[in-house]
Amino acid sequence: MARICVFCGSSMGTRNEYKTAAHELANYIAAHDLGLVYGGADVGLMKVLADTALEKGVEVIGIMPKRLIEKEVAHNNLTNMIVVETMAERKDKMVDMSDGFVALPGGFGTFDELSEILTFNQLRISDKPLGILNIAGYFNELLKFFNHAVSEGFVRKEHKENVIVSHKIPDLMRQMNRYQPLTIGKWIEDIKNESNHL
Ligand code: AMP
Repeated sequence: MARICVFCGSSMGTRNEYKTAAHELANYIAAHDLGLVYGGADVGLMKVLADTALEKGVEVIGIMPKRLIEKEVAHNNLTNMIVVETMAERKDKMVDMSDGFVALPGGFGTFDELSEILTFNQLRISDKPLGILNIAGYFNELLKFFNHAVSEGFVRKEHKENVIVSHKIPDLMRQMNRYQPLTIGKWIEDIKNESNHL
């Protein structure tokens, strides 16, 4: 079974649209017979997502570091909870167990997770699509910053253009299904050349 890993806020956010989007994404996952992987918490949008998916009979796998479980924020009714030692190990496991990633609105935890997948794809450590679900324009400023990073020469235009964004779930999933990883050869050569000319 294909599994989608979802990154999203451990907070609820201020707008109702965020909560609605977490519901709708869980419903979409159920309707398409997909499995769900997520951070395993019982708080914020993460809880809305997991509860809705569980109600619909989706296989929900949580992946959580021991230390967060000890803080009692773990969801107790998941299909499976995988306990890991560190946050880094958790992200590796999320990548191993999932076929694609969706970022819903969230905070630093979500930014960290989505950046890691973009970096992995850039380096071809993994080749799995990441879609940003841009609900209520939440990610607009981050996407603007990505453009800034391109114009300042820190991100390749092609890598920025390969980031999948939509405010509609079916459109996001369609784009994710069509995702083509970029070949890295030239990119590494360019970086080496740049560095040799210092
Ligand atoms: P944030 O966006 O900062 O609220 O963090 C949410 C993201 O980071 C989720 O996708 C989780 O995988 C991870 N995370 C952050 N805080 C927690 C928590 N209390 N319990 C479980 N996962 C968390």
